[in-house]
Amino acid sequence: MKTAAEYVESLRRQKMTVYMFGEQVENPVDHPIIRPSLNSVAKTYELAGDPRYEELMTASSSLTGKKINRFTHLHQSCADLVNKVKMLRLLGQKTGSCFQRCVGFDAFNAVDSTTAEMDAALGTGYNKAFRTFLQHVQDADLVCNGAMTDPKGDRSLRSPSQQADPDLYLRIVAREADGIVVRGAKCHQTGALNSHEVLVMPTAALSGAEDRDYAVCFAIPSDSKGLLYVYGRQASDTRKLESGGMDVGNCRYGGHEALIIFEDVFVPWERVFMCGEYQFAAQLVERFAGYHRQSYGGCKVGVGDVLIGAAAQAAEFQGTDKASHVRDKLIEMVHLNETLYACGIACSSQGCATVSGTYLIDMLLANVCKQNVTRFPYEIARLAEDIAGGLLATMPAEADFRHPQVGRYLEKYLKGVAAVPTEHRLRMLRLIETLTIGTAAVAYRTESMHGAGSPQAQRVMIARQADMEHKKRLARVLAGIETET
Ligand code: SF4
Ligand code: FE
Repeated sequence: MKTAAEYVESLRRQKMTVYMFGEQVENPVDHPIIRPSLNSVAKTYELAGDPRYEELMTASSSLTGKKINRFTHLHQSCADLVNKVKMLRLLGQKTGSCFQRCVGFDAFNAVDSTTAEMDAALGTGYNKAFRTFLQHVQDADLVCNGAMTDPKGDRSLRSPSQQADPDLYLRIVAREADGIVVRGAKCHQTGALNSHEVLVMPTAALSGAEDRDYAVCFAIPSDSKGLLYVYGRQASDTRKLESGGMDVGNCRYGGHEALIIFEDVFVPWERVFMCGEYQFAAQLVERFAGYHRQSYGGCKVGVGDVLIGAAAQAAEFQGTDKASHVRDKLIEMVHLNETLYACGIACSSQGCATVSGTYLIDMLLANVCKQNVTRFPYEIARLAEDIAGGLLATMPAEADFRHPQVGRYLEKYLKGVAAVPTEHRLRMLRLIETLTIGTAAVAYRTESMHGAGSPQAQRVMIARQADMEHKKRLARVLAGIETET
């Protein structure tokens, strides 16, 4: 396994084409706006090398028997699924942000089981090719960006081929002797700049042969010819360029998303895991989404732990911690946060083996998990803002706090409890600010809403899994309309 330092060095060797703020970024690794997100991914390497976290952070490869980083593992049991959720909570606690590596992890597991079932049904040979790729990922301990979301254009059109611009869904534009050529884009790509590889999947169910060019799954190195990245900006992102560092709130970690453009990119056949089999697009999408909905029952809970801790600490620094309503709000936050965790653990412990041997979560419970995530972090954030007080949004800048004339007034008038340095109070409020309305709010709020699919996507899956007929039959029996069978 790589160390964190080796991981950072391996990214330096990549030559990616990256744009941000209207300029090409020559060195993404050391860019002050991007670097905190890289620190978060590096944490997945650092903790894997720490004996205290070995059980959660590492696994024995089902392909080679070697010890690997869990983020490259195919789940072999419900215990593996549970350990994944625990690992993500741990990393959320340590980084207070999105650590990005789960998207590829979830893609590996979805692609493995789906290609095995596709091969069995259609006589294709994709699973072997995929596992060869995955073994490379495991051996070299790589980060893989799982790329699913297409731009999608006009949502009222049922099929990708109906769009006025056929590239609004990523598609195959040429099939050649040694591989395929693809064109399109993938939006909201978490951790794209911190990844060694991109694993592309279709974005939605495909209903017919007219969409076969959109049924494509493949993996390529992140710096492949024709790939272009445009960094997604976040609220308060330029604070990372300021001297000091207090106003960023989270002093070391962050997350990022980027738009990836595929400008006629060549993919060799050995890296193609679906090419026209539109019948299996839905399954791949549902499984990937299911795993990522499970993920949120870990990562968002870990970040929630940080936010609850920050609110409790701010209350203490301000002298409001003994107030019964503040204590009750903190209890409510814990209750909501642990409810999310309960769903993450539940969908994992009720998982089952697929044809390939890779374990899948309980899909109904994973979708319930994510549906709760679209709501509870908002309420936890609301309560944190309530406890923090209005200073959260009116604090002067660090530069004023350090200023020789005005700084002493801020020290005096922004003080809470006498024994607590004013700076500690301000730092804690800045951390709450970044998690609720600053850079990290992307991960804790908006991503809780739309990541792994927007709320309606979960409701569709919940409706499909609910088995309403069974529930109605239970009622008919007890109402004396039917006899029990
Ligand atoms: Fe992982 Fe959570 Fe970030 Fe998704 S949002 S990549 S599950 S940390
Ligand atoms: Fe996400």
